[in-house]
Amino acid sequence: MLKYNYTKEIVLLLIEILPDKCDFCGCCVGVCPEDAIELKEAEIKIIEELCTNCSKCVWSCPIEVLKFNRNGIEAAEL
Ligand code: SF4
Ligand code: SF4
Repeated sequence: MLKYNYTKEIVLLLIEILPDKCDFCGCCVGVCPEDAIELKEAEIKIIEELCTNCSKCVWSCPIEVLKFNRNGIEAAEL
């Protein structure tokens, strides 16, 4: 009998961080509902396994460091 693992979805990360633009203000961390953004002193990264691509972080960034990666969207639709 076939078994399907519905809990282990493969979700493509669609949020891109533009390198060297972030000033580490922490606004995006505060709005992320999944705690998927890791901000250390001078380093920021998105934890791919936790991110749901909701885009809240993109809209929260005052200097447009985060963006929705269209290439990722196209790849996900293939
Ligand atoms: S897209 Fe949503 S879940 Fe992913 S890091 Fe941004 S706020 Fe968090
Ligand atoms: S909101 Fe923008 S500038 Fe602030 S920590 Fe997040 S990515 Fe960096």
